[in-house]
Amino acid sequence: MALLAYISRRVVLAGEVRPAAVIVDDESGKIVRVAEADAPGSVAGASDFGDTALLPGLIDGHVHVNEPGRTEWEGFETATRAAAAGGVTTVVDMPLNCLPETTTVDALDVKRRSAAGKCRVDWRAWGGAVGEGLTGNEAHLIPLAKAGVAGFKCFLIYPGCEGLGAIDEAGLRRAMPLIAESRLPLLVHAELAGPIVAASEALAGADWRRYATYLASRPEKAELAAIELMIGLCREFGCRVHVVHLSTARALPMLRAARGEGLPLTVETCPQYLHFAAEEIADGQTLLKCAPPIRGAANREELWRGLAEGTIDLVASDHSPCPPEMKGLSGGVFRPAWGGIASLSLTASVLWTGMARRGLGLPNLVRWLGGAPARLAGLEGVKGAIAEGADADLVVFAPEEEWTVTAEDLHFRHAVSPYVGERLRGRVRQTVVRGRTVFARGDFLGVPAGREVRV
Ligand SMILES: [Zn+2]
Repeated sequence: MALLAYISRRVVLAGEVRPAAVIVDDESGKIVRVAEADAPGSVAGASDFGDTALLPGLIDGHVHVNEPGRTEWEGFETATRAAAAGGVTTVVDMPLNCLPETTTVDALDVKRRSAAGKCRVDWRAWGGAVGEGLTGNEAHLIPLAKAGVAGFKCFLIYPGCEGLGAIDEAGLRRAMPLIAESRLPLLVHAELAGPIVAASEALAGADWRRYATYLASRPEKAELAAIELMIGLCREFGCRVHVVHLSTARALPMLRAARGEGLPLTVETCPQYLHFAAEEIADGQTLLKCAPPIRGAANREELWRGLAEGTIDLVASDHSPCPPEMKGLSGGVFRPAWGGIASLSLTASVLWTGMARRGLGLPNLVRWLGGAPARLAGLEGVKGAIAEGADADLVVFAPEEEWTVTAEDLHFRHAVSPYVGERLRGRVRQTVVRGRTVFARGDFLGVPAGREVRV
């Protein structure tokens, strides 16, 4: 066994930043100890990054890889390449937009075979929970849990793409006791159809090139009613519930109260809700269409406050790409455009840009992109922290570097993202997965050796 030291004046460790040497066993790919920066002990080699920060590898708990089945949208090869460039060493893949959807163990096996040999970083899978009326996949939930999914994703509204269906309250009542038994989380796209259908009817004849029209078509009411429903069911069944991509800050008081009650409820938001604001979105700018929608600047500040106080636990990209022609770029009409934003390679920089402006430090970045998503996805002790015994997943991050995003920096399948041209602060210089450098200064190194994390 060969020991290697990764040394920095700014290592983010258990909520603090200090000089340290992270000692990695080259053979096992594990961290064997954290030593003083000037006393790493007997090692075969050392890399000293000086003042450039050393973070644990980041975890993106909300990625649509779309493979198998829709590899013209994305795929394991391109998604994990983008992840490596963004300092993300584990992606957790959503169960939809791929074909088949991950709602059975057979489908999970197909996904595993299609991922083999293609990944530059590690990955895990979310299963899907579906069921409207009398039919659902509840017979598959416990088998999927035993087969190794990290939890289950469901939609309270049509997900915008043929394949995975929604789930209604009757379906939730069948699924949630089983998911509670598995102790895994149920991830919820929290928008109810009722207020959205009503809003769309009221918008008959409206100009769908205007962002204001799209925004009005997905009212906050839809999110608030869905979250209220899920809090009630969380209380009733004791099932872990995770609200994905929270966009309205008006939900924060009820989320705060639910957590105060001790309910097993967690919340995520996304870079797009923390970076952009409705007032700044030009009409026809369909690149910024996502669901729920990006709301106003005051809402954005409230989301930041929710994060800082801990009501929102974590940030995930919701990387949801599509072929460029589906994004409505030529006509700029919001209604038919695909609702999804591609940003997998940029999350750390986008988040840090906003954090630096608001005086928030590096330990928070690691909390929101490391510790909290590790707990959500069952990766605690393995990923998401620099600690003895954990995987040696590391990111060399230059917090003061400012740069402008170009299409060449994206690295996912289609170089289409609303962040192209944005000036960001903080840049990933190097990414290490289980002791192997997979990305350094713009280049991808070695063969794809990422694997599914089975815990
Ligand atoms: Zn999503």
